[in-house]
Amino acid sequence: MYHHVKTLMYTVNVGASDVKFGNMLLEQFGGANGELAAAMQYSIQGFNCEDAERKDLLLDIGTEELSHLEVVGALIRIHLKPMKTNREAAEADPLVSIAGGGGVALLNSVGNPWTADYLKITGDLAVDLRSNIAAEARAKIVYERLINFTDDPGTREALQFLMTREITHMRAFTAALETMEKPAFSIGTIAPTPSLVDQFFNDSTGVDPELGEENATGIVKYAGLQLVESPLFKGEGLDTKSYKPVQGSEVTSLADSEPVGARGRNGKKRAS
Ligand code: MN
Ligand code: MN
Repeated sequence: MYHHVKTLMYTVNVGASDVKFGNMLLEQFGGANGELAAAMQYSIQGFNCEDAERKDLLLDIGTEELSHLEVVGALIRIHLKPMKTNREAAEADPLVSIAGGGGVALLNSVGNPWTADYLKITGDLAVDLRSNIAAEARAKIVYERLINFTDDPGTREALQFLMTREITHMRAFTAALETMEKPAFSIGTIAPTPSLVDQFFNDSTGVDPELGEENATGIVKYAGLQLVESPLFKGEGLDTKSYKPVQGSEVTSLADSEPVGARGRNGKKRAS
């Protein structure tokens, strides 16, 4: 059940409207790394999640992203406002000004419509959490770039707020993944082929002039990077620990075995 509260999560104050900046801000409204994409990705993952604690986390963060959508939408509307009445401002983006009346729409900064293709939902909780950590990193860097392109203090403060929350989410998703206690390279349930998983290939030949040069004896000296000796050709390979997961030994979820709602608010199992 959703509930709307009539105050913004963050009060937006804009000094002077900047239609072109408002247009760039649409990237965080209807763009690939924007707030709607984040809200939908986490919420739908949450609907699918059978681990009660992590389901709660996904839905809480998904809901917060909707609140971010509202904040960034409010910010965009103030910046786009001149488009409603001023011809020159309207020319900054006819799609927004003529088709959309100068309001927000589910478009990215170049007018591409929002698409569910932006969402990464696999149905595997650990894989989804990895996607979410990456999604938060992308959202953070987009906010950072937007901050760097505006001088308006109020706009910068609102974006700083939104950017900071994405880091909080990234930490929460990281903690949710780590507490699943899966080994770092354990994905899914089928173990990788033992000898094959440890093979690393040097798939490049030749000398990169920036990395090293051939001396008189024909020996290539590399600066910084070292060639990997493939175990396929009796080389040593990279110094990695072999990975031998024991089937069924991973803690995929502390609550996985129990369906959501199996316990009441008092923590006691419901009578079946
Ligand atoms: Mn957000
Ligand atoms: Mn976020």
